[in-house]
Amino acid sequence: MEELDEVQRYEFKKKLEEIKACKGKHTELISLYIPPDRQISDVSAYLRNEYSQSMNIKSKTTRKNVLSAIESIMSKLKYFKKPPKNGLVFFVGHKEAEAGQSEMVSFVIEPPLPLNIFLYRCDSSFYTKPLEELLEEKEVYGLFLIDRRECTIGMLRGKRIELIDHLTSRVPGKHGRGGQSQRRFERLIELAAHEWFVKCGERISEIFMNEKNLKGIFVGGPGPTKLYFLESSYLHHEVQKKVLDVFDTGYTDETGLRELVNLVAKKLENLKISHEKKIMDKFFKEIVKKKDSMAIYGEEEVRNALEKGAVQTLLLSEDLKKYRVKLRCNQCGYNEERTVDEKEIEKLEKQCKKCGGAMVIENKLDLVEELSKKAKERGTKVELISTDSEEGQALLTTFGGVAGILRYRL
Ligand code: ZN
Repeated sequence: MEELDEVQRYEFKKKLEEIKACKGKHTELISLYIPPDRQISDVSAYLRNEYSQSMNIKSKTTRKNVLSAIESIMSKLKYFKKPPKNGLVFFVGHKEAEAGQSEMVSFVIEPPLPLNIFLYRCDSSFYTKPLEELLEEKEVYGLFLIDRRECTIGMLRGKRIELIDHLTSRVPGKHGRGGQSQRRFERLIELAAHEWFVKCGERISEIFMNEKNLKGIFVGGPGPTKLYFLESSYLHHEVQKKVLDVFDTGYTDETGLRELVNLVAKKLENLKISHEKKIMDKFFKEIVKKKDSMAIYGEEEVRNALEKGAVQTLLLSEDLKKYRVKLRCNQCGYNEERTVDEKEIEKLEKQCKKCGGAMVIENKLDLVEELSKKAKERGTKVELISTDSEEGQALLTTFGGVAGILRYRL
């Protein structure tokens, strides 16, 4: 299956969040999934049947809402000769709005990847699971660190490092009293170590066998214990087969997971996380230059350079959570754009600077989408940066989440 590009993925995710947030008072929200090969006439016939069934709904308001949702879908279907190549999904119904009111919402979605299911569902929320599965991260690697004291198990999903489990052992140290009792003591230690490795092997195998997208496993830890563990078949053979590489790390705790991923990213250049680290490295190298730096940051500076076509790579934090709002005065036609966060939208100053009249919000765009669109129009490469790494955190907090690498200096 082909993969979505980063910006498509981001936009699609936002849309799904909006759809998921809709709640019906009763079971009156309709989700309809149509596969690419289904005839529109079949779907219409199906809906007519649902329509007559729904006339039996006891509650008058619910009945009215369900019927009008089905009518709405039927009328929209008329515009399609056949479903688009990836299929078609409708989400239509009355969602709860302020002060006990309800509001009709309607989303028509063409899935970004082929979706081969036919499904009709009427519920108090929209059914988005099949679409969410399209967004599931496919680049998944298992991680674990092991020595005789600790074992940390994690997952690398795309650019995100996840801590899954952390086990600690009670295997005693190797110091003893010498003589007869020393040998007995050592045997006990080896027995305890064996039990510890069995326990770790079982837990690691259990976790990784349940991960359907697992592409491989990376192993870390200080010293030779990890190699002994791997050579002694403590892992389930299916899991053992997936071990790709072993690295020396200083830690076996959560810090070790990040250490391990850094080592992996340096060695394997095709991973998403390697790509992100490389770009951020390039940005940091430029930013520290005292002379002729090609790095810029801050929304205003970047927007300005972007409009001139001077930006080669645009770096945007996935966690910006800001909007670009366009305000327009109804009386004199004056308009202006502003960048705000969710809270600021509510209390926007809407008095017109020119005539003192009232301005209205003409449109509201997610800042990531707005800047990405601008960049694409000018051949600028867009990189969405997660906040899962230290570099990504720095982009958001130190550089305001918007930065760029220039083609030429301004
Ligand atoms: Zn005005």
